[in-house]
Amino acid sequence: MSETFDAMVITDAGERKTKAEVTALSLADLPDYPVLVEISHSTVNFKDGLAITGKGRIARRLPMIAGIDLAGTVVESASPDWKPGDKVICNGWGLSETEQGAYAKYQRLKPEWLLPLPEAFTPEQAMAIGTAGYTAALCVQALLDWGKISKEGPDVLVTGAAGGVGSVAIALLGSMGYPVTAVTGRPETHEYLSGLGAKSFLDRAEIAEAGKPLQAERWAGAVDVVGSHTLANVLAQTCYGGAVAACGLAGGADLPATVMPHILRGVALLGVDSVMAPMEKRKAAWKLLADHLDPALLSSVYSVHPFAELPQLAADIIGGKIRGRVVVEI
Ligand code: NDP
Repeated sequence: MSETFDAMVITDAGERKTKAEVTALSLADLPDYPVLVEISHSTVNFKDGLAITGKGRIARRLPMIAGIDLAGTVVESASPDWKPGDKVICNGWGLSETEQGAYAKYQRLKPEWLLPLPEAFTPEQAMAIGTAGYTAALCVQALLDWGKISKEGPDVLVTGAAGGVGSVAIALLGSMGYPVTAVTGRPETHEYLSGLGAKSFLDRAEIAEAGKPLQAERWAGAVDVVGSHTLANVLAQTCYGGAVAACGLAGGADLPATVMPHILRGVALLGVDSVMAPMEKRKAAWKLLADHLDPALLSSVYSVHPFAELPQLAADIIGGKIRGRVVVEI
């Protein structure tokens, strides 16, 4: 075990700003939780991008090791639930917000935060999925539980299609045989999205502005990562009795909508949170991914990068330049 190791640490930069710096830490700098994990892979989610660039205040105390997702191997455990050599993953649970995060060679974690690495995936693949992909699975599971999407159609709509959540949602729905319309602002990604399983496309500008409270019924269900007018329009276009699983705010945290789709068409707005999702939901989401996500499709969704590229990757995800998912080797 090396005496010191590099970590990406968020610190106070004054004037209510934060900065991210690679800092040498030792095991003594880590929290006093029972399970020590050697981290092999992490990823960059939208929230990680906000934390590293300082564009969003993610850490609620400083200094804070950034990174919300990790895959690795247990090195020491004072918990009966885990033993050295166990391969594990951890998504969310406040990592990089209230708890020290994933961008470090080692981290000490609570046993109840960990899941065994699913047999279907390598650590690299699990991080290619990461919080974005597992959130996509939570959204798809919410639509399946609602019971209105059908392989015969109408289509399921996925917004922010070329991003992390969107890409995995399309791959998952496509692999399961559901017809998908993808909403993207990047026409150059159409071929990539078709490869994942998208059958039709909508330019994101078409649903980005304020629209009528009720519009033509088009979608059996939807996964929305954008929020704001986009979500309001998606609700207004959802078929009678359908549901929209909403998890993101890439286009804004507001929701300028009316109750009309809900009270006249029985449309449901299903809120999806990954950070504090209970273990049963997490297990179901990872099982859905293991059972239905085509490994060949997954390999087309991500690229692998060294730790040193974290600042650039963070800037790129905030700039909307990342296609699909990235894996970071720790
Ligand atoms: P990405 O940056 O990978 O993808 C977001 C996509 O949204 C972009 O690729 C783009 O898609 C689209 N987009 C970006 N800006 C706008 C805009 N102004 N208007 C319309 N569309 C836009 O992020 P992730 O997929 O990782 O995350 C997506 C959202 O989900 C984020 O808001 C994130 O915070 C949230 N999230 C929430 C979680 C939860 O627990 N609730 C967990 C994980 C993520 P395209 O280029 O195709 O147009």
